[in-house]
Amino acid sequence: MKLRLSFQGRILGGCLVVVVCTLIFVAVLMERSLGSQMVQQVRSTMQHEILTVREVVRDRWRPGEGIQAGDKLADRLGRIVGARVTLITPAGKVLGDSQVPRGEVPEMANHSDRPEIIAALKDGEGSSVRYSSTLGLDLMYVATRLETPEGRKLILRLALPLSQVEKTIGQTRNLVLGAIFLGVLLSIGVAYLVARSLSKPVQQLTRTAASIAEGDLSRRFTRYPSHEIGDLGRAFDQMADHLQRTIDDITTSRDLLEAILRGMVEGVLVTDPQGYVLVANRALKKMLDLESVPVGRLPSEIIRNADLLEALDEVRAGREYVSREFSTLGDPPSHLEAHVVRMTGDTAGAGLVCVLHDITERKRLEKTRRDFVANVSHELRTPLTAVRGAAETLIDGALDSPQYARHFAELILRQNRRLERLVQDLMELASLESGQSPPRRRRIEALELADSVMEAVLDLAEARGVELGRSLPREPLVFQADARQVEQAMLNLVDNAIKYTGQGGKVTLSIAVEDREVVLSVSDTGPGIPAEHLPRLFERFYRVDTNRSREMGGTGLGLAIVKHVALVHQGRVDVESVPGQGSTFRLVLPLVEPPSGEGEETA
Ligand code: ADP
Repeated sequence: MKLRLSFQGRILGGCLVVVVCTLIFVAVLMERSLGSQMVQQVRSTMQHEILTVREVVRDRWRPGEGIQAGDKLADRLGRIVGARVTLITPAGKVLGDSQVPRGEVPEMANHSDRPEIIAALKDGEGSSVRYSSTLGLDLMYVATRLETPEGRKLILRLALPLSQVEKTIGQTRNLVLGAIFLGVLLSIGVAYLVARSLSKPVQQLTRTAASIAEGDLSRRFTRYPSHEIGDLGRAFDQMADHLQRTIDDITTSRDLLEAILRGMVEGVLVTDPQGYVLVANRALKKMLDLESVPVGRLPSEIIRNADLLEALDEVRAGREYVSREFSTLGDPPSHLEAHVVRMTGDTAGAGLVCVLHDITERKRLEKTRRDFVANVSHELRTPLTAVRGAAETLIDGALDSPQYARHFAELILRQNRRLERLVQDLMELASLESGQSPPRRRRIEALELADSVMEAVLDLAEARGVELGRSLPREPLVFQADARQVEQAMLNLVDNAIKYTGQGGKVTLSIAVEDREVVLSVSDTGPGIPAEHLPRLFERFYRVDTNRSREMGGTGLGLAIVKHVALVHQGRVDVESVPGQGSTFRLVLPLVEPPSGEGEETA
């Protein structure tokens, strides 16, 4: 496992290693140089002392006195100089030693192999530091050669234990070790403070960066130390500010795009170069009746319409633009128009955009217009053909017979009236549909309206043997609407009721107010209308029985006019009918009460 040291640990460890190594190095060097200097010092002191002692020995020592006198002299001198004094013959025989009892001196080993003795014999003086097995100590030996007045040679040797030196060195070593310990403690403390001052901002910077990475873009470093990490923190905060602004911009653009896509009535589908859906708005989901918005999937996985998939494939295969109309499988089916274009630009690659328009209403209007033209042509052709036939018959000879001439002239007149009614109804309908002349609302009294309508159809009702009735509220009912249009609508309904009810039937006109609506209804006891015709009854030129309608002089536009009168007043129409029992047509208008200044017209 790889050891992971913190920033602080590394600085601390590094400092510690440097400080400890340096102090150990200094301690070793110090000990060495101090030791050699002290030994040198001891040596030079002893060399001075030995010169004095040598003079004394030269004066006092007589050759031939033997070990007895030699050792005595050595003892005395030893006491005076405070060092071990040894007298040795050039042959190495010990004649006296201040620290060895006299009786043992003859037993002492031959000293001729001692380095200081060898050097003294050769150069006149010598020294060495050795462990004395006799005394069990490190000793400094200094030896000198002397010559007695009688010309006899003798080696004088002084020896001093180095225990003082070692003691001093030991004390110094302890001091140095203390200094090392103190130095280590101090350096640990200083290194800790330095490392902390560096690692703390680094840790804070790391925490800030981690928070930002997790999505909290509001976090900042804010406290900038006065070293490089402060500069790093400042640069980091600037980077975070920049990032925040960029993300804000992107979010705003994305929200705007989403709002646009959401608000669009057109369906929008965008795919990436690989063909996967990038964007699909709600309108598209609704138009294609998709269960979910198919982002991240292939269109072929979710769209069931082969025409649309084919259009998408064609553009993916390389075409720049394809438009296609198709119907959905829904009930009722919608008619959609797809425009598919290939996207350009580096980022988009070869992705594509598909926009769907709902053209159901346009299609319906186109069909209505086509049907209308066909219906009008058809309606016109019948009277025109009849007029032409009658005129030709007249020219061909019927003019000569007053009886036939009258018959055909009356036929021409009837057809002409029918054409006039047709044109009048068409114009009325066109005017209502165009919306160019809004209803001229004015005060209408229910009673007056009923009277006026009844009066207009009185003759017809009498002629057809139909009884007329009416039902009005007890209280006077007054409301505002376009009087001419409402009267026309009521006339159409009552006229139909009388025409289709026939002999012995009854037609009732009712006006009432229900839930702040004016309900104008016409009921009859006529043949009724089969249920399957009811939904389309208010369409232009829709007739239950075309021949019967024509016989009655109907144009097929009466109920369409009633419906449009209702629409321009924000009202509605409905019909209830039981075949064999009769029908009830209702024109329902919102109740608009007249302002205090009665009788004024308002648009
Ligand atoms: P028309 O000029 O043919 O009467 P309308 O638009 O007024 O045209 O009426 C449409 C059709 O509705 C008529 O052709 C007729 O078949 C049917 N209809 C209208 N009113 C009645 C009614 N009161 N009773 C039975 N059928 C009716």
